[in-house]
Amino acid sequence: MTTTPTNYDLILTGGTLLDPGQGIHGRRDVAFKDGLVAAVAEHIEAEPDDTIIDVTGKLITPGLIDLHGHFYHGGNGSAVHPDQNCLSAGTTTGVDAGSAGFLNYQAMRDYVFPAHQTRLLAFLHISAVGLASNRVLGGGLHDMRVIDVDQTADAIKSNPNFCFGVKVRMHYNAVAPWNAREAMKLARKAADQSGTKLMVHVSGTPLPLPEVLEFLGPGDISTHAFNGDHESILDRNGKIRPEARAAADRGVIMDVAHAGVHCDTEVVKAALEQDFFPDTISTDIHIPPPDRTVYLMNDLVSKFHAMGLSLEGAISASTVKPAKVLGLEDSIGSLKPGMSGDAAVFDLREGRFVWHDMAGHNVDGKVRLDTFLTVRAGNAVWREGRLTHMGQC
Ligand SMILES: [Zn+2]
Repeated sequence: MTTTPTNYDLILTGGTLLDPGQGIHGRRDVAFKDGLVAAVAEHIEAEPDDTIIDVTGKLITPGLIDLHGHFYHGGNGSAVHPDQNCLSAGTTTGVDAGSAGFLNYQAMRDYVFPAHQTRLLAFLHISAVGLASNRVLGGGLHDMRVIDVDQTADAIKSNPNFCFGVKVRMHYNAVAPWNAREAMKLARKAADQSGTKLMVHVSGTPLPLPEVLEFLGPGDISTHAFNGDHESILDRNGKIRPEARAAADRGVIMDVAHAGVHCDTEVVKAALEQDFFPDTISTDIHIPPPDRTVYLMNDLVSKFHAMGLSLEGAISASTVKPAKVLGLEDSIGSLKPGMSGDAAVFDLREGRFVWHDMAGHNVDGKVRLDTFLTVRAGNAVWREGRLTHMGQC
């Protein structure tokens, strides 16, 4: 199929498109105009003044979506610079997972996010100040006066294109055991009251995992789902706990949120062997303490592929699936004509690669996705150093 000549802003030519959202894995050109995908075809005819980038031999995917990161840069001690940590990894949409609460989200919305080209969205923490006190108070749900359901729900409802849900950290450093059940109830209430999703940090939970999962319904998110802490998805015999399987079966999203310490390679491998797959691959990117390794999206897609997930499965879990979780599948997560012009181009570099987790396990792989180019709203916003030639061909 060849298109008739049209004037485009940018054409990627010669690449292989992997777009699980529209069931394409094959040779395609992709053209952008006015910030949107304008055409996808085996050959796109260009006009003389179109900008063309030759991506022959490379993999084109929809721009990756990181469902759990910390992007309130400058707003708390552990949030990263969004563009530096997203665009270089092929990520065009980053979701901040509770860095801010109803008392301090405005500066994130009005000053931090607009300073970046990455599309940035948020879940608000059930704690009024998000993670602002994390590094000194360990998370801040020890004093329940920091929770106000009505004001949290109101803040979310009045920011429908920016806030997509409620985050609560069920971690023994973040919430005392005697407050944990009440914090879950209040977070659930805020999500229901705002008509949005609930995202629960389940790594190191002071409550039994089955009890936490009871609070979650279809579309809610169990983040750090593959952690190796005491309340993991595995029982003592390494089998998927029935409550975790039941949650996945009723549509609870099993989200990776890798970080340094929240994703155990052995748990992932055991889960994959039992056909228990991550719904979404995300980074939990933050400024880590010394000695902790964190990865960006292109490395996590590569790592999960090395652990046995198909490339299609790993790209699906980082594009169309997180788009569906956000309810944005009509605008992001795929490169159908008319959708947002967000794309990534990767070299599938072959060699020997090793990824770590903080439990001391290594993953060996033979393929790594090296980011070559990131396109956001139809513009090339990040390019690998070797890409020096842009223009007609
Ligand atoms: Zn996080």
